[in-house]
Amino acid sequence: MRLGFHLPIAGGLLQAVAVARSLGLECLQIFAGNPRSWSQRPLDEALAREFGRQAGQAGLHPVSVHAPYLINLASPQEDLWQRSVAGLAGQLRRAKALGAQAVVVHPGSRGDRSLAWGLERVAVGVAQALEQAGPGAACWLENTAGGGGQMGGTLSQLAWLLGRLRGQDVGVCLDTAHAYAAGYRLENQAAVGRFLDRVQALVGLERVGLWHFNDTPHVRGGHRDQHTHLGRGRLGRGAFGALLADGRLARAAAVMETPKDSRWSDRRNLAFLRRLQRQICNG
Ligand SMILES: [Zn+2]
Ligand SMILES: [Zn+2]
Repeated sequence: MRLGFHLPIAGGLLQAVAVARSLGLECLQIFAGNPRSWSQRPLDEALAREFGRQAGQAGLHPVSVHAPYLINLASPQEDLWQRSVAGLAGQLRRAKALGAQAVVVHPGSRGDRSLAWGLERVAVGVAQALEQAGPGAACWLENTAGGGGQMGGTLSQLAWLLGRLRGQDVGVCLDTAHAYAAGYRLENQAAVGRFLDRVQALVGLERVGLWHFNDTPHVRGGHRDQHTHLGRGRLGRGAFGALLADGRLARAAAVMETPKDSRWSDRRNLAFLRRLQRQICNG
């Protein structure tokens, strides 16, 4: 399995590639702007091209752009929804300029509207954004912790969206912490095996463009979205060892979105997975 991180671009886009290279990463996720703001500074096109060139040279694949959190493709408020569609289109254009494969986006929150209404709303929003942006980068819908009006908590919702958007450049990103928060068992090999069976049956493993490997301190099914260091939460070696060992994910990619509370955090989390990979290889 190809492993990487979500890395900050505060030090510059090229710095993110340099850090990825120094850590020995095989894939990379970034924000292509301020994740908590509607106003996105224009991308320097020459710099974006250089980022794509260097990321390719460093063997980083896939490179994904995580959409800002303000985007809500399920919003019942017309103005917010329109802004979200335009915002996603902008992120898709940025991803293309950066040579990134896809934009990862959460389906959003439908408020007090029905699930069916929310699903249709998201599908129309994604379709419009892809049309506005033109071809070049895919849209990967990320599973969420679910609960309340939050969309994307179940595999069947993601499967419905993929079906509704058939023929378009749409895939899925699966986050382990979100899946556990939404109620899926993942804590051991048997549970991971059953989870992957369901992913295969509902979504298709080939439609999963990216995994997010995050541990979580919260109980299963609690709908709490908080990431912690791998091995320090409820998923631990049982979950990540099983995911790394399952042959169906041998060619998949996973980025960690783990806390960066010390300068060693990323090295420790990566070492956790590399150790498990070596144990699996040594049988
Ligand atoms: Zn996310
Ligand atoms: Zn995630």
